[in-house]
Amino acid sequence: MNPTTRRECYACGATHETTATRCDCGEPLWIATPTDGFWADWPAGGPDTIWRYRDLLAVDSPAGLAGAAGGTPLVRTPGLDRGGTRVHVKYEGANPTGSFKDRGSAVGIAAALTDGAPAVGTVSHGNMARSVAAHAASADLPAVVLVPADIPEERLAPIARYGPTVLRVEGDYGRLYDRSLELGGDLGVPFLNSDVPLRVEGQKTLAYEVCEAFAPEVPDAVVLPVSSGGNASAVWKGLRDLRAAGRIDRLPRLYLVQTATCAPVAEAFERGDRAVERIEGKGETVAYSIANADPPSGARALAAARATGGAVLSVDDDAILTAQRRLAREAGIAVEPAGATPLAALSALRERGDVEAVEDVVLVGTGTEVGGGEVDPADVETVGIASVDDRLAESLSSP
Ligand SMILES: *Cc1c(COP(=O)(O)O)cnc(C)c1O
Ligand SMILES: [Zn+2]
Repeated sequence: MNPTTRRECYACGATHETTATRCDCGEPLWIATPTDGFWADWPAGGPDTIWRYRDLLAVDSPAGLAGAAGGTPLVRTPGLDRGGTRVHVKYEGANPTGSFKDRGSAVGIAAALTDGAPAVGTVSHGNMARSVAAHAASADLPAVVLVPADIPEERLAPIARYGPTVLRVEGDYGRLYDRSLELGGDLGVPFLNSDVPLRVEGQKTLAYEVCEAFAPEVPDAVVLPVSSGGNASAVWKGLRDLRAAGRIDRLPRLYLVQTATCAPVAEAFERGDRAVERIEGKGETVAYSIANADPPSGARALAAARATGGAVLSVDDDAILTAQRRLAREAGIAVEPAGATPLAALSALRERGDVEAVEDVVLVGTGTEVGGGEVDPADVETVGIASVDDRLAESLSSP
């Protein structure tokens, strides 16, 4: 375990001995990783979970579900190759509750247990809420989840299943992100929100795993969706750790993908700005997990894309649904719409010349669909038992 209590600011370079989540300059902090003896074993041995990197994490593995996060498959997907580009999918749907959020929740819960926190909380109505509630249940810790009042029943059920205290909040939900961190700080209840240092700490292991799988090579590009910017920050952090410790000699380019109806980070990238403007009146999108109009780590995500020579771009709903279908039909991988945005972006990246032939590109399939989904009637046929033989013979002879 890395016993440091030091946190660093990517933007101004300040380091703080603090449990605060933000630097005096306003940007989010992350936990400092040592570059010395900790890195003696690389590639690392040990369990196929995030705890394989326990020496590089701020906490030790607890018992229960938190012990199971990470170690997700990196699938080589020749069916998705085009024009010589070699495509790989890091399948985060294989985490215990179906998304990369489990990496961050596992570290957050481990810290809460170590610190003797009375409960944990989060502000989320999606994968993060589910992940925090599940990890809390497994650790026998109470959890409080703040959801917006208008959350539909089918999105609430998968969260409520784990028995957290669910508060449906009426009013300006966006305000709760910072408010919950303050209130939680006062009460000693960690809020494991999307870009807090403990969450970023756990989620950085995604980058460790990808680089370990490619060692001694480094993939040319990693493509992932961005919403709050927490995960993009985490991946960047993991890559920076590896380079600082001399385990990789260059960083893959990070391409971050947004949904066209809510793309504040992509718009700031286009404008050449360093700050991200909150979007007013965002539209509907199929990619419900990436619709943050006011991303708390937006500027850090922008910095990650720029510093690695990547970009931030957006894709529309049609492209996302097409990519979701292609991932299933050409690679056998089921993701929720947000997790399909990297493939949707890949065509644009190829056309623009950002991604070239003979490059290795990793698409992060960030989460899988839990329940729900729709079937296209054209994909299914109903047959009577008497005609099954005939229909079977027919379809097998002309599949
Ligand atoms: C949370 C989430 C994202 C966005 O990650 P951020 O850290 O908020 O940028 C993308 N895809 C899925 C499936 C998610 O659950
Ligand atoms: Zn700072």
